[in-house]
Order: sequence, then C-alpha cells, then structure tokens
Amino acid sequence: MEAAGVLVRGENGPALIPEVTQQDPTQFHLKAATIITASESGDIVGFYHSHPDGTTALSVQDTRSMRIGGRPSWPGLTWLVLSVINGRCVDMCAYMWNSDRREFLSVAVLIDE
Ligand SMILES: [Zn+2]
Repeated sequence: MEAAGVLVRGENGPALIPEVTQQDPTQFHLKAATIITASESGDIVGFYHSHPDGTTALSVQDTRSMRIGGRPSWPGLTWLVLSVINGRCVDMCAYMWNSDRREFLSVAVLIDE
C-alpha cells in the first residue's frame, strides 16, 4: 500500500495532510477533498508519496503526473518521495522544477527539529 498526501505550512508549522486510501502500490491519487482540506490548513508547499520496496527515484508515472504540457502541474511546489522498505522509511528525496533545465531535479531536504 502506498502512502500519499499534501505538505502544508500552517500557522503552527509544517503539517502532513494524508490521503487515507491508497490501494494501488504503484501509483497514488489525491482526492480534491484532501487538497481542499490541506489548503484550509495552511499554504500547500508540496506533495509526498511513498515507494513501497522501492527507491526515491521518480517513476515514469510520477514524471507524467508532475507535468502538464511540459510544465509543472503545480508550479513552485515540492514533490517528496519516500523509500519504504519492509514498512519502514529508509530514505527520502525532494524534487523541484528547474525552469532552466525544464525538468524536476532533486533538492536538499533540511529537517528542523
Ligand atoms: Zn512515485
């Protein structure tokens, strides 16, 4: 089962708005209601999803859904991909659109504790 959701920066700091049902292990879907809930919780800054027993590399399906007509489908947002092995997150990678190279490139993830 794949996990997915929305990354939000709210008044009380960052938050994850999870999508509840993800039955397909190879792709994820975010319902409009989840995105609306996220937008009511703060500023949407990105999306996250897991790759069960996979790496953090973007899949063909990922790159398709991240673009519309060769441009980012959600300009300015970050896409966070989690590698989950045996039910445990072992790695993560964030991707942002690079307008010069016209592709998504990995960017550093800083965790503020
Ligand atoms: Zn993916």
